[in-house]
Amino acid sequence: MSDFLKANYHAHTYRCLHAVGTEREYIEAAIEMGEETFGFSDHIPCPFHDGYVSNIRMTMQQAPEYVQTLRKLAQEYKDDIRILIGFEAEYIPAFYNEQMQMVRDLGVDYLIMGQHFWTSENIGPYSGSPTKDEERIRLYVDSVIEGMQTGSYTYLAHPDLINYQGMDSVYEFEMERLCRAMLAMDIPLEINLLGQSEKRHYPSDRFFEIASRVGNRVILGQDAHAPEHIKNRAVYEECMDLVQRHSLNLIHELKI
Ligand SMILES: [Zn+2]
Ligand SMILES: [Zn+2]
Repeated sequence: MSDFLKANYHAHTYRCLHAVGTEREYIEAAIEMGEETFGFSDHIPCPFHDGYVSNIRMTMQQAPEYVQTLRKLAQEYKDDIRILIGFEAEYIPAFYNEQMQMVRDLGVDYLIMGQHFWTSENIGPYSGSPTKDEERIRLYVDSVIEGMQTGSYTYLAHPDLINYQGMDSVYEFEMERLCRAMLAMDIPLEINLLGQSEKRHYPSDRFFEIASRVGNRVILGQDAHAPEHIKNRAVYEECMDLVQRHSLNLIHELKI
């Protein structure tokens, strides 16, 4: 296995209620594909204080079991692959301190930021829903920059999740602002393989055109929600075409 991801830091588990398969199946798929590092980054739990129960993420109470299960598997497979344990997290100020305390207590290896919401999911809006509202893209960019300034997140997952369909000039201005801030903080931007395979609005050429011009580093992320997602070579090649098309500065691994 030569031409494929060397490291993937974006994968989920069944605990988020919209991913399938066992952790072992994910790990064995990654080994089969020749990946040397595989990071689980399931959706971070949120400490809701109003009784709300999410149907897209584990609970705070489940997190210790998630980490312990993966620690055991990391040990079991250590001669074949390096397993890392992380979370994909929104930066939401109301949850941030409690989440960071949990991350420290559990000894999690890394966090990636996936800004699906900038307020709680029970308030919304979802970043990926189509909008012509300038305020939304501005708030998305503001919240990503503010979150990244904490230094807690290693990369930005699907930076082009915001689905702004208004004026091109507004999109250009806001996304260039995002890219420049990420460059200044040396934060890589993810090209999301799941979005590509499902023909979502990301990864988008209009975004990576801007990232190319700004000079950001980019990294591929499988965003696996099923073991098959790890073995999709065609989607890897499509994303590598995007890298070529925009002469992007691709990195192959992170220092964790
Ligand atoms: Zn998910
Ligand atoms: Zn994800």
